[in-house]
Amino acid sequence: MADILVIGEQRRGVLSPVVAETVSVAKELAAAKGGKVLVAILASKPSDFTPQLSLAGVDEIIEVALASEEFQSDLFEATVLKLIEERKPGVVLLPHSIDSLGYAPSLVVKGNFGFATDVFGISYDGDDLVATRQAYQEKVRAEVDFPGKSTVLLTVRAGSFKPPEETASPSVTSFAAPAAEAHTRHIAFHDPEASGGVDLTAAEYILSIGRGVGEEDNVGQFEELAGTIGFTLGCSRPIADSGWLPKYRQVGQSGKTVSSCKVYIAMGISGSVQHLAGMKHVPNIIAINKDPEASIFSAARYGVVGDMFEVAKELKAQLG
Ligand code: FAD
Repeated sequence: MADILVIGEQRRGVLSPVVAETVSVAKELAAAKGGKVLVAILASKPSDFTPQLSLAGVDEIIEVALASEEFQSDLFEATVLKLIEERKPGVVLLPHSIDSLGYAPSLVVKGNFGFATDVFGISYDGDDLVATRQAYQEKVRAEVDFPGKSTVLLTVRAGSFKPPEETASPSVTSFAAPAAEAHTRHIAFHDPEASGGVDLTAAEYILSIGRGVGEEDNVGQFEELAGTIGFTLGCSRPIADSGWLPKYRQVGQSGKTVSSCKVYIAMGISGSVQHLAGMKHVPNIIAINKDPEASIFSAARYGVVGDMFEVAKELKAQLG
């Protein structure tokens, strides 16, 4: 059976957490249909990432040294295309990211590969690969298959798979990147917003509020509560979009993934897939929602069907 190739991504020397998550699903696919799991890391010093990529399920790490320190789309496109031509994988998995969106579409056109983006489920139906993604403005789940394609390229949504916990000792090889004409160049990173010292990705205890908070004037009391009980305040996207809290406090697909969180209190948050993408891996999720049918309860370890203002008052009285 053909191999599965995972493309590693890094930024400013930090490996994207989606790479390890993607290894998990690659491992499942290999277990189902055979083939080896290959992980290619494209970076100026790829060997820096080899220890982190030596995960259970990885058979081979392919180090690809690039001239460019940071992501460069023409270089990635040419290199991944050459890798696919030489190694002939059946499935190629990329993190779904701003970087992969910069080169994956033109790559699949050049290679005539099957393609689906922002995938959060991958399986086989008989011998056919099936990718699950959302469609119609996230209203429905679509199962996509790829008739007649011997190579399929998928970009994988962050937070969809649990990374392997165990390490391994895969073989390490190197691959020469082809020469490619670069039409863009990296100049500098601009952080859109100073984070005021708040780093949700490092916070262990987070209290997040959603649209259930009602209006901007109500936000302050939850900020105060979070401070009182020693939690970092987070929020769902509508709260950040309204400007009630800064963007760096947003949890979810287009916000932060709360990688270090141990306890996550979700108040007045419905539990959309986009929000869950940033927090559903947290071992202790406590959901407070007045709607007993809210999806957040399916991800929660503990749930309170009730009014978030009442619960906040009680929490403050008990713990404040
Ligand atoms: P709602 O869905 O409106 O839910 C509010 C909840 O509050 C309801 O369940 C209600 O029962 C409850 N409630 C109301 N009053 C009370 C009360 N007094 N006490 C208790 N409960 C109460 N969303 C994110 O959060 N993060 C993202 O990163 C993100 N990225 C996205 C990316 C894309 C491409 C798209 C299309 C969407 C994205 N979204 C994201 C938006 C997402 O689809 C949802 O719209 C959003 O998560 C809903 O936020 P919410 O749960 O706060 O609001």
